[in-house]
Amino acid sequence: MKVAVFSAKRYDRQMLAELNGPHGHALTFQEARLEPETVALASGFPAVSVFVNDQVDAGVLEALAAGGTRLVATRSTGFNQIDLRAAARLGIRVTRVADYSPHSVAEFAVGLLLALNRRIHKAFERTRSGNFELDGLMGFDLHGRTVGVIGTGKIGRVFARIMAGFGCRVLGHDPFPHPGFEALGGRYVEREVLARESDVISLHCPLTEDTRHVVNAAFLASTRPGLLLVNTSRGGLVDTRAVIAALKSRRLGGLAIDVYEQEASLFFQDRSSDIIDDDLIQRLVSFPNVLLTGHQAFFTREAFGTICATTLESITAFERGEELANEVRAPG
Ligand code: NAD
Repeated sequence: MKVAVFSAKRYDRQMLAELNGPHGHALTFQEARLEPETVALASGFPAVSVFVNDQVDAGVLEALAAGGTRLVATRSTGFNQIDLRAAARLGIRVTRVADYSPHSVAEFAVGLLLALNRRIHKAFERTRSGNFELDGLMGFDLHGRTVGVIGTGKIGRVFARIMAGFGCRVLGHDPFPHPGFEALGGRYVEREVLARESDVISLHCPLTEDTRHVVNAAFLASTRPGLLLVNTSRGGLVDTRAVIAALKSRRLGGLAIDVYEQEASLFFQDRSSDIIDDDLIQRLVSFPNVLLTGHQAFFTREAFGTICATTLESITAFERGEELANEVRAPG
């Protein structure tokens, strides 16, 4: 099948080309994001593959449908960038990668937490310039502390298990509780209780209408002073302005994020020679207790291999008219 692969970086090309042999798809790689300005590149391609920051809204989907596209396969777990209702209306089917190493993201979240708490990023900078001072690098023992996990799905549960292994008390909040979370010693509580009692909070729920800005000014005002907040899920879960205010007032003790509300125009690109006109991210990176990475939590050999393999399998199943195991549909 002819497939237009958008947001294709060198590693996407390599892995997809390597795994495509048995599938035999005709892959055309586009470095560009899919958006209104680039959607014409998909014309004549029955299948299109996208990534987290492609703009798959109603307008783009209409243009895709007009160009003959019938499948959008996102190389991600989250699918909040796709207007599923518009896709359904236009007869475009949508697949994602529901299952890939949850360890990739959970382990990265733990890495961020350790670096943030023990100021490893600052120590790295200091020692490279010959500064071996400890002043300003003091953290706290995670052992015995309370860690709140918002979203106890596949990734949240792996994260919770690692934290339980550190000797933490683990609290969880999820509208769909999972017995596996309690089996590892976690306790479900209301979000308010989690906010009030946690020393660390890590976000692992999807971005939906219900979860947008779940971390806002009111939430932050109800947390423990000195809270460390980790977000490896989606940028829109956090109200960036509220977080900046909480950092400035010193109520929030630290922030580690792999995702950012306005990441679409920044992430996955080298912008080091540009003037970045996003004042919020510039303010964030100016704090010594903010650690920011560019949406790399998924990026392990295991996870990325599965992402590419599953995407190709979905396209093959679609071509053969088989059931789409990873299809996502509009709710209701
Ligand atoms: P999952 O579907 O297994 O788990 C999500 C959990 O969130 C579910 O248990 C669900 O019930 C829960 N949830 C839904 N609404 C909630 C709410 N209002 N409050 C609390 N919990 C809620 O998904 P997963 O595989 O664990 O992935 C979680 C998220 O991680 C994805 O949606 C994606 O946004 C993000 N992610 C990020 C990266 C990265 O590279 N940074 C990679 C993969 C996934």
